[in-house]
Amino acid sequence: MDSFLRRLRALWGIRWRNIPLTAAAGIVAVGLVAGGLALAFGPGSKPENAALTTAAGEHKPTSGAVERIDAAAAIAKDSAAKKAAQEKAAAEQAERARVAKQRAARSEQRRAALEQAAAKKAAEKKAAAKKAAAEKVAAKRAAAKAERAAEKRAAEKKAAEKKLALKKAAAKKAALAAKKAREWVLPVASYHLTGRFGQSGSNWAMFHHGLDFAADTGTPIHAVGNGEIISAGWQNAYGNAIEIRHPGGTVTLYGHMSRFAKTGGSVKAGDVIGYVGATGNVTGPHCHLEVRPHGGGLDDAVDPLPWLKSKGLNP
Ligand SMILES: [Zn+2]
Repeated sequence: MDSFLRRLRALWGIRWRNIPLTAAAGIVAVGLVAGGLALAFGPGSKPENAALTTAAGEHKPTSGAVERIDAAAAIAKDSAAKKAAQEKAAAEQAERARVAKQRAARSEQRRAALEQAAAKKAAEKKAAAKKAAAEKVAAKRAAAKAERAAEKRAAEKKAAEKKLALKKAAAKKAALAAKKAREWVLPVASYHLTGRFGQSGSNWAMFHHGLDFAADTGTPIHAVGNGEIISAGWQNAYGNAIEIRHPGGTVTLYGHMSRFAKTGGSVKAGDVIGYVGATGNVTGPHCHLEVRPHGGGLDDAVDPLPWLKSKGLNP
């Protein structure tokens, strides 16, 4: 460099006023500076740079600095293109990623929907099963209830049948009693008992052989049972009296009648044979009933009260 400057000074000194030489030295200096820049920015190892240098060299073989600047611009342009390509690739990758993400999201949505549907179906199935179970229980209960009701009805029916049977039996018994009662009746329907069997007093000779049914004069007197009138007429203390012989030989006597309704022939239980009066030895109107089981005299007379009771009557 020192020698270069010495030569330049020498040159400057020699050709002080030689302007074209000075200009040439300036051009050389600019060329040196451009060469240094080219060395600094463009390493010669890269093939493309070498090519560019060569190309630039081809186009402008006479100007190395311009060639270097063009190469730098080309490098910058290439870098920008590369950057743009990289950005484009990045954008495409991002788009692909976005699409993939979208797809994944849709797939997830579908999966969730399917899962939800499956869950709903399962819940419905469970609900149906629960309902079916509840219905089964209800049916079982209803069946049990129906069974209980049927049992109750059967029991009620049985009870009703038993009651009916008892009622029938009672009715039969009552009918039998009624039939028996109809076979035998009381001589007077409305009365009150006055003289009892066995009593003694002014109206009876030492002993009363009958039962007195006190009633108003004219009250009808009935035959106590089926039989035949064997006498109807005046019998001293008995006044107007009728005697009836019943099947089996028992004779009943009705005394003190005011008048007779019948005086002979057969009679049915309940037939009116005469009317209450006060004929004979009496203190008031009544019907004197006497019972002689063997159809004998006074010695044969028995108490009419138990006898009537034995015929199902209750005087
Ligand atoms: Zn009497």
